[in-house]
Amino acid sequence: MTLQPQLALLEQHFKPSPLTQILDPALAAYPVELWLKRDDLLHPIVSGNKWRKLKYLLNHALILGCDTLISMGGAYSNHLHALAYAGHCLGLNTIGLIRGEQPAQLTPSLLDMQAWGMKLQFVSRSEYRQLRHYPHWQDLPELAANQYWIPEGGAQPLALQGVGELITEIDMAYDHLCVACGTGTTLSGMIAAAPKQAAITSFAVFKHAEFLNQDVARLLGHPQDNWQINHDYHGGGFAKSSAELLAFIDRFQQVTQIAIEPVYTGKMLFGIYDLLSKGYFQENQRIIAVHTGGLQGNRGFSGVM
Ligand SMILES: *Cc1c(COP(=O)(O)O)cnc(C)c1O
Repeated sequence: MTLQPQLALLEQHFKPSPLTQILDPALAAYPVELWLKRDDLLHPIVSGNKWRKLKYLLNHALILGCDTLISMGGAYSNHLHALAYAGHCLGLNTIGLIRGEQPAQLTPSLLDMQAWGMKLQFVSRSEYRQLRHYPHWQDLPELAANQYWIPEGGAQPLALQGVGELITEIDMAYDHLCVACGTGTTLSGMIAAAPKQAAITSFAVFKHAEFLNQDVARLLGHPQDNWQINHDYHGGGFAKSSAELLAFIDRFQQVTQIAIEPVYTGKMLFGIYDLLSKGYFQENQRIIAVHTGGLQGNRGFSGVM
């Protein structure tokens, strides 16, 4: 699908994301190589995987001639933050349906969104849950002809195409891919684009997220058995962190000089290190984990960064 001119122009501001080997003495005992696909470095403002997922959805909206994008997320949402910024750059209106009551003090993420012209509408938790029942871009009730609906996390088949580009950028052989899993959309795009002989392990960051297996199968549209979602490292639930996780992140950042956050990439890497110690990965494998970015959501939130 050719990109609309304004989107092609915006894409010029995105840098290729490098592949970095993690040289950590703590890994020396394991006969594997661990690499990080640095999607956190794609753009100074837009969080890595959010651009990947949004790219072809934005293009679709532009092709349809829509001038308003509507989506949903929490008060720290990397997805809405990326959407607000992209909308601002593309000259499109954006509306963010935010989960829960308006806080007395807007979060730094919400303040950014507002500054980029996003209209913030706070919706109750039950209304928010109801919004999850509109999985396609035309599904939102009372959607006007000029409006384009983007479901939670951009979970649309078109999002998979953009995520696939992160896979095709990888220019070395590998055995195993790893990624954090929120809605599973990024995982789905990786599964769809990766060679079938590569194994893919994803780390759920929510508690009770067993429904993800179905969501991913639905997005993929076909059964496939080289992937799995690990549910052992959510650390108590979304955005919950433990002293152990925070200590792991501190040490990792010091040793590698790579910033990570405790909501997604921190949990994934914690999981990978723990699984390494348990012999989960086969010997002599090259593992490529995706740093999905998300550092903006960390502001005023955990004190780690
Ligand atoms: C949103 C997000 C994810 C999860 O992506 P899904 O496609 O919803 O699974 C992972 N990492 C970061 C940093 C994110 O912001």
